[in-house]
Amino acid sequence: MKEPWFECVRCGAEYPLTELYRCPKDSGELKIVYDYQGILKESALPKTWKHPLRMWERFGDILPQKDKQAIISLGEGGTPLVRCRRLAEKVGVKDVYLKLESCNPTGSFKDRQVSVAISKANEWGKTGFGTTSSGNVGVALSAYSARGGLQAHVWVLETTAASKTQQIQVYGAQLFLVPDPGKGNMIAYRSFFTEMQAFCIKHGMVPMVSARPVNPYMIEGSKTISFEVVGELGEVPDHVFVPVGGGGMLGGTWKGFRELLELGFIDRLPVVTGSQKVGDNTPINRIGDLEFDPNHYFEPLDGRWAWESIQESKGSLLHVTEQDIRTAQSELATNEGIFAEPQGAYAAAGLFKASREGVLKSDQTVVCVVTGMGLKDMKAAREISENYPDHHAVKHVGSLEESTPFFLNEIIHPQNF
Ligand SMILES: [Zn+2]
Repeated sequence: MKEPWFECVRCGAEYPLTELYRCPKDSGELKIVYDYQGILKESALPKTWKHPLRMWERFGDILPQKDKQAIISLGEGGTPLVRCRRLAEKVGVKDVYLKLESCNPTGSFKDRQVSVAISKANEWGKTGFGTTSSGNVGVALSAYSARGGLQAHVWVLETTAASKTQQIQVYGAQLFLVPDPGKGNMIAYRSFFTEMQAFCIKHGMVPMVSARPVNPYMIEGSKTISFEVVGELGEVPDHVFVPVGGGGMLGGTWKGFRELLELGFIDRLPVVTGSQKVGDNTPINRIGDLEFDPNHYFEPLDGRWAWESIQESKGSLLHVTEQDIRTAQSELATNEGIFAEPQGAYAAAGLFKASREGVLKSDQTVVCVVTGMGLKDMKAAREISENYPDHHAVKHVGSLEESTPFFLNEIIHPQNF
């Protein structure tokens, strides 16, 4: 079986999987390619991929790691795929399954990405790591660095939710808070990501931004979400809802389905729909459009790749508002007992929007990825519980007698308690 290798998406040049982040010839992005026929014939993957194991035990043969002793893991992956009957009824489809990436060790899907990339770098003997993120990559990097006895440096905006910055500090990482460039200075914000790559390399550190142009190993972790979904469902879902964010997760998820097809484990592909929040980011289907002045709009680093993936899958891009996202958080929590952070509910907001727009069919099986845990942003949680229906206002009482169960104002049958 041939070792996996890098292929430049621009010129097609091939390279071994070393400490390389861009094509040396033309700076093109690098994707990781595997010897799929070799994996089928010589690896354990055909036996392990459907087993309810954790990420490395199950999919190690289709991840870039060579030295298994260098793996740094906290038991990521193997997250619940929960059937949600009430949601299915609400959106008008046969079945809705939520993939709870919020159940990963640090509460988000980024654990898969960080585990893959930090393990590979550990193989090269690297000890210092740096990242900048909206919070969750920083949290994951801090935890996995602690686990491996390595050093993490995390740059986040001052506006990042306090629960995330505290989580980063708890794991013992060095946290740097940087000013929010604000609308009108998005070029500076974007260049911060690429400058950070150069800064890390200059200081002998590994840049751990979860975007293919910065670290092509990171996004390999996302594809294992697709493997688990198909393995557990026993079939390919009709429609998969994924948040857009930087675009890498969507691209990675699509890569996962494509690899399953390549391996002959599935014979069809799902439709993938991306949910992108309206606001400061350039809509990924309009990157390069002059209407979206780069001074005011941030171009997601993997936006083009994500948009290509959506088009290939015959899916669509849905724009969701802040209110759509809060409503989705509230609906998931009160109908299914699933508490997602705002970014974790983008995909669900897209699912509700697709239902309102009549895109879904009644015989479909839909999977929606919940990317992060609600406890990561308690400010948003407070807003929901205070402002949305289905959440009860707090009542201050001096004794049990003053408390009235909300469902009964008249007769209470003691035997029911
Ligand atoms: Zn190239």
